[in-house]
Amino acid sequence: MNEEFSALRKDAVTTPARFAAGLLRQKSPGLLLIDEMLARQILYDILQDTDKGSIFARFGISPGKVSDLFMLFQEIRAYQNENAFFSQEKNPKIAELQRLYFQYQSILSQNNFIDGPSLFGRAAAIQPDKNLCLFVYGVRSPYPDLQIFFQNLKRNVASFTYYHPYTENRKIFTDRGEWLSDSPVPILPDTHYSAFLQLFSGEKSGNRSSMKVFIREFRSPKEEVESIAQEIIRLVDEGLAYSEIAIGTPDLSSVTSLINNVFPQFGLPFTSSATIPLSSSPVIQAFVQLLEIPSRGYRREDLVEAYSSPYLGLLNANSPVTPITVDKIAREAFIIDGLSSWTTSLPQLTTRLRDLFSSPETPEYRRKEIEREIQQIEMVSAITQPILQHLKSLEPSGTLQKHINSVRALFSSLKINPSKIAGTVQEGEDLRQFSTLLCEMEKNSSLYRGREIEYPDFVKILKGELQKRRTQRHRTGQGIRVIGIRELQDQKFPILFLMDLTNERLPYVPGHLPYLTDSEEMVLNPDMKRMNLRDERFYFISALCASTRGLYVTCTNAPEKDGLIPSPFFREIQQNIPTLEWIPSPPEASTRFRQAYAGKCLGGRTLPNPSILPEIADPIRLADLLSRINIEYFHRTGEYDSPFDGVLCEDVEICACLDGRFGDERIYSVSVLEKYASCPFSFYLNHVLGLEALPDVEITLSPADKGTLIHHILAQFYAQWIHERGTPPLAEDRDRALQQLRLITEKELADFGKDGPAWDALKSDLLGMGGYHKGILERFLDVEIARAQSRLCPAFFECSFGFEGVGNSISPEPVTIHVKGEEGASFKIRGFIDRVDVSDDGTFTISDYKAGNHPKLSEIMSGKSLQLPLYLRSFEILTGKKAAAGAYYKIHRKEVSHQAELYDPAHPQVIEVFSARSRMGDTCFDEVIEQSIRSAWTSIQSIRCGLFHPPKDPCESSAYCDFRKICRFSKFRVLELGESEGGDD
Ligand code: SF4
Repeated sequence: MNEEFSALRKDAVTTPARFAAGLLRQKSPGLLLIDEMLARQILYDILQDTDKGSIFARFGISPGKVSDLFMLFQEIRAYQNENAFFSQEKNPKIAELQRLYFQYQSILSQNNFIDGPSLFGRAAAIQPDKNLCLFVYGVRSPYPDLQIFFQNLKRNVASFTYYHPYTENRKIFTDRGEWLSDSPVPILPDTHYSAFLQLFSGEKSGNRSSMKVFIREFRSPKEEVESIAQEIIRLVDEGLAYSEIAIGTPDLSSVTSLINNVFPQFGLPFTSSATIPLSSSPVIQAFVQLLEIPSRGYRREDLVEAYSSPYLGLLNANSPVTPITVDKIAREAFIIDGLSSWTTSLPQLTTRLRDLFSSPETPEYRRKEIEREIQQIEMVSAITQPILQHLKSLEPSGTLQKHINSVRALFSSLKINPSKIAGTVQEGEDLRQFSTLLCEMEKNSSLYRGREIEYPDFVKILKGELQKRRTQRHRTGQGIRVIGIRELQDQKFPILFLMDLTNERLPYVPGHLPYLTDSEEMVLNPDMKRMNLRDERFYFISALCASTRGLYVTCTNAPEKDGLIPSPFFREIQQNIPTLEWIPSPPEASTRFRQAYAGKCLGGRTLPNPSILPEIADPIRLADLLSRINIEYFHRTGEYDSPFDGVLCEDVEICACLDGRFGDERIYSVSVLEKYASCPFSFYLNHVLGLEALPDVEITLSPADKGTLIHHILAQFYAQWIHERGTPPLAEDRDRALQQLRLITEKELADFGKDGPAWDALKSDLLGMGGYHKGILERFLDVEIARAQSRLCPAFFECSFGFEGVGNSISPEPVTIHVKGEEGASFKIRGFIDRVDVSDDGTFTISDYKAGNHPKLSEIMSGKSLQLPLYLRSFEILTGKKAAAGAYYKIHRKEVSHQAELYDPAHPQVIEVFSARSRMGDTCFDEVIEQSIRSAWTSIQSIRCGLFHPPKDPCESSAYCDFRKICRFSKFRVLELGESEGGDD
């Protein structure tokens, strides 16, 4: 009886649907029973041909909407009252539904197709084998189409016996089977009285059986599962086998995933009948993600993800190119999406880098980096272009068969062999199902060609079908059974836990049928909601009856936290069945509970109960546990004084290594020293460990790239202008100078090869827009013209010191700066100075162009901003001239101004040319420079001795710091530090 036999054999056991299908195959071989997938495809085609203004086209045509329509048609057929339903012809939506319905039926009939919903209706017209002896069992309140089918069988076969569950409780049973017989239907005596059968009837029931019913509400689903696990441990200790225990639940998927998290901590084996959509399988997701690349527009992240997938194996294990290389290069090439962007942006990036390489201003070390980058671009191009071309071949529209052929061709050209990439049994099963799905789609395609579809629509259809296919997990066949409430009908377990009986899950009464309102649905079946509710009650009672010795009924009651409240079915048990309160034990068998308990005791410095400690014989793990607790509770509190704060001073090897890397021969750039001054920890991550964030991709340019572009334009402009004229532009030169600036800017912008509205907006910011507004470069020119009569003349632009082989160099050697008052203390620096203006009295000023905010005098004085003072001193050393001021040239859409932050009041005729000046007051110019040198020296010494803790002041860079996600900076710790320092004072 376990086997399913041919539908026409007398000893066969089968379902009504399979029996009907067998009958059709046998007696009407010209008809073809089609699956739901083909039925949906036919509906999809019909909807695609629907007039754009129709109601259904306005809902949007997607696989989900098609499924909804199929479900609605299924219900209409099952109730067998199309005429009544479609008689609402004044309702335009119903009229349109009717048109679609008949169009669909007509395609079925033209092709001799029978779909699932029409099965019983068609089979009811077939004459079965007269000698058949049929027994029907387990069917309850059948739909009208099944009733008609049974009536036909009963009329035509030798014997037809129909058993169905019934008791005198109208809240559950209304169908007595009168539709099958004119004579009164006999009710067999109840040999298994259960108090549960009277539930929902309004009467209290006495529990006359020996079975105990325990009841309990919990504060969270996790607590509920943990308590059940602990109770199972107790029951098993008493001698029960795992196979004698079951857990029933209305929401099998979510409870199975919770159990999957909790039971391993208790060492409990389980098996669950839960299924998940095939689309959730990681290996299938990798395939779908690859196929989606063209339909999602060749997005950078999609391609990088495909290269990262271990299933697709798109990168050779020995390849020097990694997914990170692809990502980095694509970002540098400003690729966001678009096939053309992949083909044009990589060569453009190469051209830009080649230009930079051949520029005389590019230092030697940077040239080596550029060479490496160009090599990487070539490799990335070589691996991405063939794949992109293969993916492009998927794009043309075609029939389902054509798309499936293209997918197979893609897998074969990329050497993806689904049968070889399965690492686990489950993956193998998932891939087998994927392959079966493609075969079934192909078969359907041969039965019904259908219209041509666009590639993105094909991917949507494929995803929709993968969503509908279910694949089973956790089915070892051993251990505790985890099962859905509806599956418990006619099963028996000595111990049954019915859990998660919350209002959210039970009873589950579906909302309206798709596309229908309440009143429209009532025409189809006025009793639909009540029928659903009766069904839910029936299956709940069947589940209660599945336990033979002990029943545990539980739920979560946490309205304030999760909005979960007990189901009315739970309350029904509580109020009408004699129950015992279940007092669960703490989940002491759980390894996680034990570990948390041990950690809590150790952290709180209390003695733990040895019987609850984790059963870890391994002393290494215990030591690990202790050291972790110590890190959090001890080392990461108070002063920064441990390696966990980045204080590495006590590690001799590390300090020796740092001394080597950052010793006297090290040539520092000012930005590196500033980085240390603002946050030693980010310096450590970036310059000691060498961690780097991937470059951001902006639609136009990142703020940093925009700043570099402006530097470059202004340097070129002034270098050309001074070379040709010898003096800054005067008022009468304005037009010509502006023209020159425009030409340089347009050429620089063209090198990026970008376009689009955002790029036009950037251009307009820089160059202005006819007579409407001035661009920032024109405003810069006006500031320059206003100061043209001063004694200062722009003399050096983007000039370097400390770099070899650079065209615009003041000195290839770095500058050695001595620390005043410290015998033998000195360090070497190098850098690029945006602009130096010199005066005929032997003084000079240094300016740094800024496209955003710039540091203020206070930051210079606190040692956090070192650029101006160190560059002023370096230029003094290199040229013997006297520094008069350091300034920031703010070049921004909102403001163009030249502000002196650090200046020597002894040279009023030099500093008066700036648009604004900071308040130096009594501050001594030379002393600020010396103080900055001392700050830089202190930083260097701290680097050498391994001090890399987070800042002792509140971190102001966290919003844009690349390391914010791994940073352990805590403002509360800093506040505490400040308080204890205040107390000491
Ligand atoms: S977030 Fe702040 S404290 Fe943390 S690394 Fe970045 S700059 Fe330093």
